[in-house]
Amino acid sequence: MKTATEERTVRARRLVEEMPEYHPPLAGREALRLDFNENTLAPSPRVMQRLRQITAEGLTKYPEREPVEKIVAAHFGLAADQVLLTNGVDEAIHLMCCTFLEEGDEALISTPSFFMYDVNVGLMTRGLVKVQADESLAFPYERFMAAITEKTKLIMIASPNNPTGATVSREHLLAIAKAAPHAVLMVDEAYYHFHGEAVMGDLATVPNMVVARTFSKAYGLANLRAGMLAGNADLLKSVRKVTSPYNVNGVALDSLATAIDDEAYLAWYVEQVHAGRERMMAGLEKLGVEYFPSAANFVLMKIGPKHKELVAAMRKHGVLLRDRSTDPGCEGYVRITIGVEDHVTRGLAALRESLKETGWTKAQAVAQIAHKDSTEREFE
Ligand code: PMP
Repeated sequence: MKTATEERTVRARRLVEEMPEYHPPLAGREALRLDFNENTLAPSPRVMQRLRQITAEGLTKYPEREPVEKIVAAHFGLAADQVLLTNGVDEAIHLMCCTFLEEGDEALISTPSFFMYDVNVGLMTRGLVKVQADESLAFPYERFMAAITEKTKLIMIASPNNPTGATVSREHLLAIAKAAPHAVLMVDEAYYHFHGEAVMGDLATVPNMVVARTFSKAYGLANLRAGMLAGNADLLKSVRKVTSPYNVNGVALDSLATAIDDEAYLAWYVEQVHAGRERMMAGLEKLGVEYFPSAANFVLMKIGPKHKELVAAMRKHGVLLRDRSTDPGCEGYVRITIGVEDHVTRGLAALRESLKETGWTKAQAVAQIAHKDSTEREFE
């Protein structure tokens, strides 16, 4: 007997059938959410006021992106045609891949990093080249540079990176853009606010670089889905062609225009994360848990063989963590989001209890970690 798949007459494109899938564990999140690197509290109160002004008639209209693009561009000191608002950075990644990649092209990323790069490159080409970090999980700069070829068309680098919290220096990013003038470098600055160093100021002098920013993290608007691409107007003109004119809804557009205006709120939230991150790292040291020093709003912890049990125990204490064990080179690693003061306190207290309950020891954790340095050419 034929299986349902064999009987199917209409098939997706070959690359779609081969694409990896991304199913983040979104169910059952009524707890302290230290799993998705979101803002753990709220957006600016001004956004809530703005939302209360939404009218019924307002909802009947198609959203208009351009006026808000002008506001956002002015906020970042850019021209309006240097900014494209997107449905989160997720959509920005999708659009970049659809615009710049075709079969035979290579796209270059380092691993571990954000999985949506794999998914969206896979939609367009088999040429995904991954440069694996060594056990330090630092960005593998020399090997990354060596992996650039004449076929490289798109390079995507998150700085700070997810799930490691590691950064790539401005000098290295600019050197990568220079070494690949035939490729577009997308620097994903989703976690920029928690670090502070950026390449947004270099866009005028680096024609093959674009920067992605999100309103999901520091601004606290993950549910509204708003992000942006900034860069060379010519490059963005092509990306704009691929973009739906209504890709960002009007509620999100109104909210983000309000959110960027409340700089005091943003500064307050970022300060909460800076202080919380210091406290978390000090707390982990006290508990004997090794971690990667992070420039983002999360910390990646070396838990070892008890990683699953720890995540389950934390859930029982009402705190969600994200097990990153399936990320390349991350076996035994668990990520914890840093939020506002009280949330860090609750996270640390639950961690102390959960480590005890699971019989965790540092010796087990250190013994487990194995890794390999590699550059994978997946399509070969
Ligand atoms: N880039 C990185 C590095 C991320 O970690 C995330 C969120 N997990 C995103 C992009 C996607 O952000 P957004 O909510 O804007 O789609």
